[in-house]
Amino acid sequence: MNIHKVAVIGAGVMGAGIAAHIANAGIPVLLLDIVPEGATDRSQIANTALAKLLKADPAPFMHKKNARLVTPGNIEDDLPQLADCDWIIEAIVERLAIKQDLYRKLAAVRKADAIISSNTSSIPLHELVAGLPEDFAAHFMITHFFNPPRYMRLLEIVTSEQTDQDAVEKISQFCDFKLGKGVVPCKDTPGFIANRIGIFWIQTAIQEAIDMGLTVEEADAVVGRPMGIPKTGVFGLSDLVGIDLMPHLMRSMNRSLPTDDPLREKATIPPLIQNMIDTGYTGRKGKGGFYRLN
Ligand code: NAD
Repeated sequence: MNIHKVAVIGAGVMGAGIAAHIANAGIPVLLLDIVPEGATDRSQIANTALAKLLKADPAPFMHKKNARLVTPGNIEDDLPQLADCDWIIEAIVERLAIKQDLYRKLAAVRKADAIISSNTSSIPLHELVAGLPEDFAAHFMITHFFNPPRYMRLLEIVTSEQTDQDAVEKISQFCDFKLGKGVVPCKDTPGFIANRIGIFWIQTAIQEAIDMGLTVEEADAVVGRPMGIPKTGVFGLSDLVGIDLMPHLMRSMNRSLPTDDPLREKATIPPLIQNMIDTGYTGRKGKGGFYRLN
């Protein structure tokens, strides 16, 4: 399939998990992040992410023998190393301007047929590639992995008429045969498929639990197992995904939906969620979430 080396940019919740999953499939991965302020170890974020994966409990996300396939680094020093990567996956913060700034740098270093993809949950493909060189856009797509990337089979691949068909075929086959994903091709529509449904499902569960005065455990007992997510339930899933992701999704959905779409009215952020974000309770990656985690 001609994908011999991959780079993942962004060593957060998703990027680190995606890099581990690819390394576990036997493919060398470069895992890059930004340089933390005042850092002496310039690969600190990527190194810490890797160390965390090796300790992950109960089932390690990373087989120890495959850890050597991941090379941690930082984007400032290691950008030139991307020149021989066949696939570069962007998994950085959900901000269009920051993502586009990175793409401009990638456009300058990537090799001619390298494929670039974004793991965005909510930003439309046409916004991501706006103003970028035509050939870059033709080799660009959204590969939307779900959390945690190792266990979630679903992978949405969002393309447009502009996307090079060979590139789509190459990534789809690689993700199917090498990474064991169930690839679902998606159109460039607001929230793609899963989040368009999921975001309202989570929002409704939260509102109903508040209105009915349920504890998170009680609510998860009702909407967890019956909805096919027995382990975490809806509230546990929100903690895992990151509660701060919800406003991004809602905003993007609102921006992209036609003005007369009835969903627009529902695409709002519950005050409880805003309050949790403002106080740092963003889930597992923050001080804690619906469940006390930290
Ligand atoms: P995160 O906040 O855990 O990690 C983001 C990482 O990107 C951080 O380590 C940060 O230092 C790094 N970063 C920021 N700017 C950078 C830059 N310019 N260059 C290099 N690194 C940079 O975020 P996350 O939850 O892993 O989400 C990453 C992407 O994946 C987002 O687009 C998000 O919408 C998407 N996504 C998230 C989930 C989820 O469950 N969290 C699921 C699917 C998709």
